[in-house]
Amino acid sequence: MQVFKFGGASVKDSKGVKNVALILQKFADQDLVVVISAMGKTTNALERVLTAFNNAADYLHELSLLKEYHNNIMRELFAPEHKIWNMVDDEWRITERKLKAQYDEPDQRYDQVVSQGEIISTLIVAHYLQDQKINVQWLDAREYVVTDENYREATVEWNTTTARIKTLDFSKDNIKITQGFIGRTISGFTTTLGRDGSDFSAAIFAFCLDAKAVTIWKDVPGIMNADPKRMKAVTVFEELPFREAAEMTYYGASVIHPKTIKPLATKGIPLYVKNFDDPSLPGTKIHECHVEKLPPLYVFKDNQCLISCKVTDYTFVTEDHMRKIFHALSELNIHLNVMQNSAISFSFCIDFRESKVKALIQTLQHFFEVYYNTGLTLVTIKNYDQESFDSFRKKPGVILEQSSRSTLQLLMK
Ligand code: ASP
Ligand code: MG
Repeated sequence: MQVFKFGGASVKDSKGVKNVALILQKFADQDLVVVISAMGKTTNALERVLTAFNNAADYLHELSLLKEYHNNIMRELFAPEHKIWNMVDDEWRITERKLKAQYDEPDQRYDQVVSQGEIISTLIVAHYLQDQKINVQWLDAREYVVTDENYREATVEWNTTTARIKTLDFSKDNIKITQGFIGRTISGFTTTLGRDGSDFSAAIFAFCLDAKAVTIWKDVPGIMNADPKRMKAVTVFEELPFREAAEMTYYGASVIHPKTIKPLATKGIPLYVKNFDDPSLPGTKIHECHVEKLPPLYVFKDNQCLISCKVTDYTFVTEDHMRKIFHALSELNIHLNVMQNSAISFSFCIDFRESKVKALIQTLQHFFEVYYNTGLTLVTIKNYDQESFDSFRKKPGVILEQSSRSTLQLLMK
């Protein structure tokens, strides 16, 4: 059996849904789990609904735009009397009910509401596929993916999840359509696995079912050595070792979710990144392999914040100072992207999330003079060569630089 994943961009309009059917038609008699995201930018829109609701603003307006977006897609796929219309209507009612329900914490509400995007999307796609005479069964991923209660970033309970997924029976309905990104706690609340988490969901199903392969269908020809929106003359990798792919995601390459590689590498399950619009392109194969000379790989991570902690009493930065800084970071669950120290200051770069950064600075101000810059971009060049090294270091606006034998990182304005 194999696992496929179609992201939001692949099902952003009726043409995309029809294309999913064209691809699946070629695999009609194989055992498949097909993981599908919310349509287009639905997750962002549901986040706006939540923000409006939390601020007692007009959330219904945001919600009606989102319904209209889905209705437009459905009008191009289904007749007006099709049963899908009622099913999706019910889900919008459930969404509103969940939005207004009482919860222990805001993140719990977030997961109950945002997950509805994937439920609605998979219902639409599954019904369209059935109409095309593709033998599919819709599954609620929450009945299979069991997690803890860490809402918005839930951790998978592997033992129960594996046991449940292993009960899947492919003998009658050989293609399962299910959601990415979502799971459920033992107590019955929906959880999410972190933004862009449906790649990880695909890996979870593949791991538990010992799949032959996972294919992520995307709007790019494969994994490239830079984001083509940011750089010219990029190359598509034919193959990449698991380790290299995992490191890319660490530095912020958004092409695959960082948690995807580990379960696949553990079981030696290859991951293909293929082009959704042209399945005949070879794409990229990530597996256990050795690639002689990888070209420089560029990763751009925007919205970075540089924080500098300066000691003020003419002592130097000591391990004890660092302990305080690391303790504060760990308490707030903040991940360091780069760090550097000098005689009197310790600087580090983190993703800018306003509430977290504010809380961090408040704590650090007890011990240090704190300076910070926002709106920065962290550029990582992995496997740099002389040319890429020199050309990037010369660029204007570099405010921090660090290099190892294989990797150059520049924080730029
Ligand atoms: N729909 C979710 C998101 O946009 C999950 C995913 O697409 O992978 O983050
Ligand atoms: Mg996505």
